[in-house]
Amino acid sequence: AEDESLISGAFHEGGRETGPKAVGVLAVVGRPNVGKSTLVNRILGRRAAVVEDTPGVTRDRVSYDAEWAGTDFKLVDTGGWEADVEGIESSIANQAEIAVQMADAVVLVVDGLVGMTASDERIVRMLRKSGKPVTLAVNKVDSQANEYLAADFWKLGMGEPYSVSAMHGRGVGDLLDAALDKLKKAEKTSGLLTPSHLRRVALVGRPNVGKSSLLNRLAGEDRAVVNDLAGTTRDPVDEIVAVDGEDWLFIDTAGIKRRLHKLSGAEYYSTLRTQAALERSELALVLFDVSQPISDQDLKVMSQAVDAGRAVVLVFNKWDALDEFGRQRVERLWATEFDRVTWAQRVNLSAKTGWHTNRLAKAMRTALDSWDKRVPTGKLNSFLGQLQAAHPHPLRGGKQPRILFATQASNRPPRFVIFATGFLEHGYRRYIERSLREEFGFEGSPIQISVKIRE
Ligand code: GDP
Ligand code: GDP
Repeated sequence: AEDESLISGAFHEGGRETGPKAVGVLAVVGRPNVGKSTLVNRILGRRAAVVEDTPGVTRDRVSYDAEWAGTDFKLVDTGGWEADVEGIESSIANQAEIAVQMADAVVLVVDGLVGMTASDERIVRMLRKSGKPVTLAVNKVDSQANEYLAADFWKLGMGEPYSVSAMHGRGVGDLLDAALDKLKKAEKTSGLLTPSHLRRVALVGRPNVGKSSLLNRLAGEDRAVVNDLAGTTRDPVDEIVAVDGEDWLFIDTAGIKRRLHKLSGAEYYSTLRTQAALERSELALVLFDVSQPISDQDLKVMSQAVDAGRAVVLVFNKWDALDEFGRQRVERLWATEFDRVTWAQRVNLSAKTGWHTNRLAKAMRTALDSWDKRVPTGKLNSFLGQLQAAHPHPLRGGKQPRILFATQASNRPPRFVIFATGFLEHGYRRYIERSLREEFGFEGSPIQISVKIRE
């Protein structure tokens, strides 16, 4: 029997770190119902759906590790992104735009049975502006007899239309050959792959908590915040910002400054954008506006960061706006709403006045040190041995579940695997996590513990 369970910080495998061999990031875009998800599943060999089975992980996957003919690449899947959004034309373009910004090359999917539509043309215009290489897939060409359907799409001006049937796999190999050829030659601008000596930071929080104010404060200049969407696809996505004399790579600052949330489909896109930024970051600065009540959306963003397995610093912004009564209200909130992240550091500051912004860097370094940390196997086992001797697991059906052996399987964030003779109940797992934290630190980082049962 094998029992895998997570204590804190569920996270998934893809997206965080890119295998050394991945040649680039390929996004699959197109209007709804053309068959993007079907195509992505076909390319991934349906591995994708399985990864989502972790309880408590309820969010959209953004990127996957994929492989074709010996070439490893990242696949950005936008199928399903529009699921929550009511058919707003412009939001389709937004969705595609986010995907394209994250990618080095693009597969544009159109529907051969339906023919060319105004939405297809809208997406094509955006793709042209992005300057990224595009391979055109005409889907739902399920048989040789329907090949003629593809020819019409030469008119889109995106080069040769590749006719495919995502459903049956027809033509998908040729499409991938062409797309990967372009991807290999493409300029790598996605940032997903950029190896950088700088630590990668995502500034996240619901709209109006002060993300762009804090970014401007840290960058030491007041930049124009608002840009219109058109023509901004080439904005720098990431920015190097010095905090306390050290350079950090702030991820997706264009998204922060551009205020996508003012557009339709607002909350949904900010969630998506947050997810994309988290995937590429190592550390999340989660901002809260303490002059307002803490909302579900605030807590959701925080959970996104923890579930993504990122190091976390909680930033309580707009401290300047609090009076004594307000400060008491905040402390009550702290005691009640933040029990999921008692391990995280909290920095009270004011982006507006700059008060305490000099405290950020230290908290950021501490969190990343914890996130990077490795506990040697010998130390870990002697610690767990002592812990078990002092507080054995309660009897279950007359038997005493025992820990046999443990090891830290990985870091970033720290992930432990414990081998035990029987099921370890929830309370005992919490106790192990608390004790590990007390003994070894891990301030500012989620940790994950899986238990494997060996009879
Ligand atoms: P998405 O919204 O672009 O992700 O589209 P989906 O992958 O969800 O597919 C939309 C619909 O088109 C579904 O009913 C699919 O079964 C269907 N579909 C997808 N690929 C093909 C194909 O190659 N041939 C045919 N005939 N139908 C397909
Ligand atoms: P974003 O949507 O998260 O990027 O938030 P903004 O940076 O645009 O800030 C939203 C509003 O909050 C603006 O009116 C800011 O001037 C204001 N604001 C940001 N930081 C502070 C702060 O520390 N104190 C106060 N009083 N207002 C702030």
